[in-house]
Amino acid sequence: METTGQNKPAPVFFLGHGNPMNAVYDNKFTRSLLQMGRTLKIKPGAILVISAHWLTKGSFVSTTDKPETIYDFYGFPDELYKVVYPAPGASKYAKNLLKEFDFLNEDKRMGLDHGAWSMLVHMFPEADIPVFQLSIDFHKPLQYHFELGKKLIHLREKNILIIGSGNIVHNLRYAFPLDNPNKFDWAYEFDEWIKDKIVKRDFNSIIDFQKGGKAAEMSVPTTDHFIPLLYTLGLAKETDEIKFTYEEIITSLSMRCIKIG
Ligand code: ZN
Repeated sequence: METTGQNKPAPVFFLGHGNPMNAVYDNKFTRSLLQMGRTLKIKPGAILVISAHWLTKGSFVSTTDKPETIYDFYGFPDELYKVVYPAPGASKYAKNLLKEFDFLNEDKRMGLDHGAWSMLVHMFPEADIPVFQLSIDFHKPLQYHFELGKKLIHLREKNILIIGSGNIVHNLRYAFPLDNPNKFDWAYEFDEWIKDKIVKRDFNSIIDFQKGGKAAEMSVPTTDHFIPLLYTLGLAKETDEIKFTYEEIITSLSMRCIKIG
């Protein structure tokens, strides 16, 4: 990766993170993450993650200098609690963002949640790029998140790589065991429906997905893992190329990943 030639805006990703154990797995999904990191032409100056696992009232930006790896899950094997992602914080970038938008709030202590680090360990294993997070204001309508994504578009010009981390289909009631061979038709239907709307750049239908009937209702019983997608789509420019860098349905989870730009 080069560090110069920063005239092209940084790309934006949506990552379907799924099981936290992906942090320690070596499988086709995690190898695709490594590939996503490797194929970047320019090394990002910072990474901003919007993760399903930081839900707040009000939108917060983390200004932590040395964000801790947060183990925000229960009952997983010990090896997962030994993973540390020691990337520095990106307080300079975070503080600039806070200066720019008064409605954003500062969080001086937030570390990295697993929606962030379980992906970054594969994408950027060197952990040398500063990382900060923007929380999801869970009290706001879906349109708010898409619009906030749009407001952040200029960060791409500053070589900040933005990652939305969630899952397009995420229904934990049917997720386990993850090797369940039964397929849920609604998961495939909704995932394909979203893919099609993205290809057609019909983002308004995606914001209004709750009108989509049974498949939508089953695939997104709560919007926490879906909202990061809205930030990613808000950050898309008309001229950006959109690529689906990974596609897989595991029980009731869609692992679909998207690269824009
Ligand atoms: Zn999650």
